Amino acid sequence: MRVAITFDNGPEPGVTEGVLDILSRYEIKATFFVIGRKLERPEGRRLVARAAAEGHRIGNHTYTHTVALGRMDGRAAVDEICRTQDLIERVSTERLFRPYGEGGGLGPHLLSPAARDHLASHGFTCVLWNVVPGDWKDPEGWVDDAVAACSIRNSPVLVLHDLPTGAMRRLPTFLDRLKALGAEMTQAFPDECVPIRAGVVAADCGRYVAR
Ligand SMILES: [Zn+2]
Repeated sequence: MRVAITFDNGPEPGVTEGVLDILSRYEIKATFFVIGRKLERPEGRRLVARAAAEGHRIGNHTYTHTVALGRMDGRAAVDEICRTQDLIERVSTERLFRPYGEGGGLGPHLLSPAARDHLASHGFTCVLWNVVPGDWKDPEGWVDDAVAACSIRNSPVLVLHDLPTGAMRRLPTFLDRLKALGAEMTQAFPDECVPIRAGVVAADCGRYVAR
């Protein structure tokens, strides 16, 4: 099992520091999908700069994170991507994007045609997920769900949240249990979770694009 751990919806002062400390202690590299408006504040920018400096990948997770891009008019969805990428470019030249899923759902609400075209023409890699243990809803119990869901997959792409829910207090327990299962950590994402890779649109991308 090769697990790609991703942290969405940060950076969050008071939480992301602790997550970075834990990852460093376990010598694990992950990916942080950050919200653009949180990078307008200097504390947010400092945390993302630290994450990048410590070897984590930084991805774009929309500017406002309020409405799924598939439900937005063309220009608004593209603005959500561009405004955030402008802020990320100060610390990372990677072009990774993760759409807002409205609680982890996969479907045609994720992207609009304009958003897909923008991601493709600008060489983005669009990263979805296949394990969402709901850490924000169940700050204690998510660990059991996450371990069970990861253990039945070859290439889990796990979504956690560096948010002040208390869930990240259990991150060391989760990492210990993954280690006990012999899991390896990876920062690479399997094709099943990547409908657009470096601008190349996969055959099944249409299922994530609104009509
Ligand atoms: Zn999110």
